[in-house]
Amino acid sequence: MRTSAVHQEGIDESELPCRSENPELYFAESPSDVELAKALCQGCPVRVECLAGALERREPWGVWGGELFLSGAVIPRKRPRGRPRKDPGQAAALAVPVPSPRAAVTAA
Ligand code: SF4
Repeated sequence: MRTSAVHQEGIDESELPCRSENPELYFAESPSDVELAKALCQGCPVRVECLAGALERREPWGVWGGELFLSGAVIPRKRPRGRPRKDPGQAAALAVPVPSPRAAVTAA
């Protein structure tokens, strides 16, 4: 979204996807919205310059030049909110069998 490349190349800012589409997508919480923003950037005429500028500025967050930034670095994808899911196979392997209270009564 840096405008210097836009002005140098005589591009109408309203043609940029981040200006013509919902700008909230570029800073969205939803991973699917972030992926949509990254896809929209692919057709942007200043994508390369935008990405170079974001890398140089170490953008703290958001989609810039078709990439997702977090703390100044490009990350592959946004993780959904909340704790990561446990691997169901691992959870089953670690499960400790708990005797039913009814079995304890009948054994006594
Ligand atoms: S590359 Fe994406 S964020 Fe950068 S100016 Fe283009 S649409 Fe906007």
